[in-house]
Amino acid sequence: MNKWVYLFNEVKEVEKVSRGSWDSVKSLVGGKGAGLMDMTRAGVPVPPFFTVTTEACNAYQKANKFPAGMWDQELKALKAIEKATGKKFGDAKNPLLVSCRSGAKFSMPGMMDTILNIGLTDKVAEGMVKATGNTRFVYDSYRRLIEMFGSVVMDTGDEVFEHALESYKAEKGYKNDTDMQAEDWVAIVEKFKVAYKSKTGEDFPQDPFKQLELSTEAVFRSWNGKRAVDYRNKEKISHTLGTAVNICTMAFGNMGDDSATGVAFTRNPSTGDSLMMGEYLINAQGEDVVAGIRNADPIQNLVNQMPKAYKQFMDITAKLEKHYHDMQDVEFTIERGKLWMLQTRIGKRTAKAAVKMAVDMANEKLITKEEAVKRVTPENVDALLHPQFDDSAMNQAEKDGHFVAKGVNASPGAAVGQIYFDADMAEKMAKEGKQDTIMVRPFTKPDDVHGMIASKGVLTSEGGATSHAAVVARQFGIPCVVGASAIKIDLEKRVMNVGEITLKEGDWISVDGTTGKVFAGKIPTSEPSLEEQTDLLTLLNWADEISARKNIRSAPNGGPTRGLQVWANADYPKDARRARSYGAVGIGLCRTEHMFFEPERLPIVQEMILSETSDGRTAALNKLLPTQRKDFDGLFEAMDGYPVIIRLIDPPLHEFMPDEEALLEEVITMRVKGQTDGLKAKEDLLESIKGMHESNPMMGLRGVRLSIVMPEIVEMQVRAIFEAAADCTLRGIVVKPEVMIPLTGTVKELEWIQPRLLRIASAVMAEKKIKFEYKFGTMIEIPRAAVTAQEVAKQAEFFSFGTNDLTQMTYGYSRDDAERNFLITYQEQGILGTNPFQTIDREGVGKLMQWAIDEGRKTRPNLEVGICGEHGGDPNSIEWCHMIGNNYVSCSPFRVPIARLAAAHAALKHQPVVAKKAVAKKAVAKKVVTSSPKGKKVAKKK
Ligand code: PEP
Ligand code: MG
Repeated sequence: MNKWVYLFNEVKEVEKVSRGSWDSVKSLVGGKGAGLMDMTRAGVPVPPFFTVTTEACNAYQKANKFPAGMWDQELKALKAIEKATGKKFGDAKNPLLVSCRSGAKFSMPGMMDTILNIGLTDKVAEGMVKATGNTRFVYDSYRRLIEMFGSVVMDTGDEVFEHALESYKAEKGYKNDTDMQAEDWVAIVEKFKVAYKSKTGEDFPQDPFKQLELSTEAVFRSWNGKRAVDYRNKEKISHTLGTAVNICTMAFGNMGDDSATGVAFTRNPSTGDSLMMGEYLINAQGEDVVAGIRNADPIQNLVNQMPKAYKQFMDITAKLEKHYHDMQDVEFTIERGKLWMLQTRIGKRTAKAAVKMAVDMANEKLITKEEAVKRVTPENVDALLHPQFDDSAMNQAEKDGHFVAKGVNASPGAAVGQIYFDADMAEKMAKEGKQDTIMVRPFTKPDDVHGMIASKGVLTSEGGATSHAAVVARQFGIPCVVGASAIKIDLEKRVMNVGEITLKEGDWISVDGTTGKVFAGKIPTSEPSLEEQTDLLTLLNWADEISARKNIRSAPNGGPTRGLQVWANADYPKDARRARSYGAVGIGLCRTEHMFFEPERLPIVQEMILSETSDGRTAALNKLLPTQRKDFDGLFEAMDGYPVIIRLIDPPLHEFMPDEEALLEEVITMRVKGQTDGLKAKEDLLESIKGMHESNPMMGLRGVRLSIVMPEIVEMQVRAIFEAAADCTLRGIVVKPEVMIPLTGTVKELEWIQPRLLRIASAVMAEKKIKFEYKFGTMIEIPRAAVTAQEVAKQAEFFSFGTNDLTQMTYGYSRDDAERNFLITYQEQGILGTNPFQTIDREGVGKLMQWAIDEGRKTRPNLEVGICGEHGGDPNSIEWCHMIGNNYVSCSPFRVPIARLAAAHAALKHQPVVAKKAVAKKAVAKKVVTSSPKGKKVAKKK
């Protein structure tokens, strides 16, 4: 016969069937049941109880009835409780009353149902009055049962009871519940019974066993209530876990002024401060505190009213925190001076509190540094580093009808500003008008960057997670929402419309890059800074220590045995300085073409592109050389001592030219108006641009192909890199330049271009009479390069996965259009689990990466491998990079802290058994205990 029910003192049996795993104990009897059993074992005063398992709940959900034997086991357990308390269920003289509470594996506060005071009937109530002499207490408890039973079990809703109470109070002229006298509660019970019958057509059940049976069933049902399902979806909790049901002897906080009830957190869940935060009410039952019907007192005041119980409570909660190695969320009741603990569980907390508590607890030696690092999530770090909208303000905005649309949450953080529909206006209004601007466009292009940088936030109606807007916004830490396709932008009328809402240029808008939501009007934000967050800095340093440990990785392909390093994608010295201050130890990608877009350089770049001869190109490029050298000089200086990877020009040349359509329009207008001045030049330019047209530019003349067709550009770039590196070395700066060739598909391309570039490098070093470390390597962005990596590594001294293009080319999904056109549908339909442009697709793209590393290291065992696609800042992708043997990940400066934490998480999760044992030994030697109650016992025994 299956065992569906466990008694308060049967924790050993639960452990046995759970094979000693505390996690499995919680799976079977729920977090609350496990906590209560564990407290009972530790001698904490817990009212006797029993727990119906989650397995019983799941069996109920399947068959829509209790599984065979379960109810009998409940009755048997009830007998055991009767024995332990000396009371009898349903007995009028000495009645046992119980509560029936949900308790899933993971706490879902307030999401499921609870029924208190089960066992009260007319007869029992009379008997209790005789026994206690306290009519008020008995009938107050009874009316609570009728209301809870009605609303939770019979679906009557609360209103019918609230209405009955309110009209009674109004009739009597009472303002508060406390004005109600004993006889008033007796009268209310009668009124509630009438209300109950009016809604259910039945009398309130006078059989206590029926009450218990229906309550158990109602709690089972509440697992699939809408609130609970929504909560699990949000928190990514599996719907198949089921809830346990705890039937617990009632302890009464409403027996008079020597009774009380309360809830408390052992540390402040909002700030993380070590001071207990809690509230209590004298002469009340549990839900009064939570419901906020009466103003509760801060827990610290209890010392004056019930010093003995207070001291005992403080002792117990301190022990509980030590026992569970974490902040506890407890419920308690004091019945005529005697303290009962009704619940203990790990308390929920804000991001700020999560970091502070983790660091404090490690410093207090309550947990190890590893555990502290594990407890903080990448989302916590993210939340701490970007300006955020206040949750309640966002909810309010939604309620007030200000919600506009939801798009892809491309770059986190909150931005509030005035709408401008083009880059020039956005920049002008920001710089000259001193406004906070939000640039709103259908999509962005490289020549929109100045408007983006000047703006507080960016919103596009098209494009996806790796679209231009998304990449650039992340690069600069600008909050950004892309692909909000419900928004229709009319660039001519300069308005945007969503349904009824029309917003025009200059109107205020709030863009939440963390959730992808967009609101009309202003929502207040708060702005944090890393430097001021000393606890976070401490935690990130611990994360770095963990990642740097030797042998924390088993080096799958002869690669590194330490964890991942974190580098940054940065184009300008100021970004590099920021990246370094955020903890980056290298630049993994400098996209040199961004520098070509600067207003004073673009005409020279265009002149170079339009030159018909190599000499003409070289002449234009010579004008660019000094400025490129200066760019690189600044980068090397900012990253003194660290590697800097500079990627040679990548995009197709037409991106540097004026827009073809706009130019055509201009030419036509001039022709129509008969304006001849300058017409010829424009016509020639138009012809050249037309000549550059490609049907599929992403797969066209770009990357290394461009370098082979027009080597003068990259020759100038390599000269600029090496001259800058030489100049820096002469100034005492330690440089480690790494030249990266993009979009390689065959090693032959590298064989063609690399020797030419190497000759320039050697020539510059000879001219400057100086030598320094350098490397030449390639991006792996084309599946063919990954497949033939063994060959590619013969030329390339390092690989960097350009996973934006590698994903595009492997899936054959356009990185600029997929989200808008079908990716969201694919996710909704379950064809794709996650967006492959945000999180590495391990089975496809990830496998190619793994293959490329394995093959590459066959040729070059110490091949340096990184990733510089957008995935480099995504925790799940970072874990994959750790597993396949990357040396580093590179991401935008603002994501560096998140990546440092994620790198340490991956290292801890995948550390080889030997390394784990070594850490465990050290922990035991230091008498450091592990996080589960079980672990603690083992550690003690040793
Ligand atoms: C990539 O393709 O992943 C990459 C980093 O290059 P880009 O985004 O500039 O094409
Ligand atoms: Mg690329």
